[in-house]
This record gives sequence, C-alpha cells and structure tokens, in this order.
Amino acid sequence: MARLQVDRLMDRIGGMLLPPRCVLCGAPGQPPCLDLCRECELELPLAEHCASDDDGPLARSFALYRHAAPVDDLVHALKYRGELAVGRVLGTLLGRHVARLGFHVDVDRLVPVPLHPARLAARGYNQSVELARWVTRETRQPLALRMVSRLRDTPPQVGLDGPARRRNLASAFAASPSARGLRIAIVDDVTTTGSTAGELGRALRLAGAERVEAWCLARAG
Ligand SMILES: [Zn+2]
Repeated sequence: MARLQVDRLMDRIGGMLLPPRCVLCGAPGQPPCLDLCRECELELPLAEHCASDDDGPLARSFALYRHAAPVDDLVHALKYRGELAVGRVLGTLLGRHVARLGFHVDVDRLVPVPLHPARLAARGYNQSVELARWVTRETRQPLALRMVSRLRDTPPQVGLDGPARRRNLASAFAASPSARGLRIAIVDDVTTTGSTAGELGRALRLAGAERVEAWCLARAG
C-alpha cells in the first residue's frame, strides 16, 4: 500500500478511536481527524498573503493567517505550552491551503526553520518541525531536518526594527551542500518582516539550492 493510503487509513482508524474535538470550542472536530470544527475554522483570520521579494533569495513568501485572535493564542499554545495537537491542526491547515494553491508543485523538500540547539534542548521540540510534519502529510514533499542549522541563538526579534532584525540574523544559519539543486520550501510559524525566512533562504541559496520559497502559518504586523 502506498504511504498516502496508509496515512489515510491510519487517520480513519485514529478518528474512530479518538473522535476529533475542536481545540477552540470543544465541539466535535472535522472527520477523520482535524481537531477544529468547521465554524471555528471559518473564524480564523485568513491573510493568504503572498509576496515575492525581488532583491531577496525567496521566490515566494506565503502567509496563511494574520497573527491575530485566535491564531495568536494557538501559536502560543504550540510554541510555549507544548500543545502539539495544536501543531497538527495548524500544520494540516497550512498544508491544505498550500496544496490548494498549487505551491507544492514547485518544491522538492520542506525545511522547517531550525532552532538553536540550546533553545531546542530547553523547549524539547521545534514548533516549525511540528507544523511541517503535518504540512507534508498534505503536500507530500520529504522533510529535510538536517539540511540547515542555527549557528547563533539570536535574541527574540520582537521590538527590533527591520535593519536591526537583519543584523540580528546575519549569518545566523548554515546550510549543507545537500541543498544543491533542490527546490525548497521553508516552513515557519510566524513571520514579521520576513527576515528570518530571508536569511535562511540566503543560506540555502549559497549552498546551491535552485529555488527557495517560504510558507508561514501567520503574519504579524
Ligand atoms: Zn470550534
């Protein structure tokens, strides 16, 4: 059986054993296994913001939602409270939208924004990986979890202006030669000025990636 069919079967079985329940209101979720009801899904603040930056390394930069209620609360729950079920909901939604828009056709690998090892050790998981593992269930590109690394534990971006953010991130990432010739989609949780994905894209292009785009769950500002 193909992996897609196995996944679908497992989803059906999982949905029967543990029926999906909305993470926002507690109502029944959407079968077979989306823990979000249709009503709450329709309330999410869609942005579907798409940009291509001419001077930068990203061929496309997509953000699905605005970083506003209740998406901001959901991201917080995923990022700081370890609610990985929320990651499944948000990653599935991001993957479905990207697939519907056809962006995945231009992509060979998904690369979640890496955390610095110290931060990963403190948190125990990387929220972008938790999103990406569900995005790939919808779009079917392999995850590349060791292609890039974070060299410096950069201070939080909050409160910095655009140039300061870029200085903060300069040379923050390294990409391995395994990126060579590949078309890559970076998966990120929240983008503000796009500078994190931009710097990561720059590192991937330097390593020989043919094309880089970014898929973000939410866009702040
Ligand atoms: Zn609901």
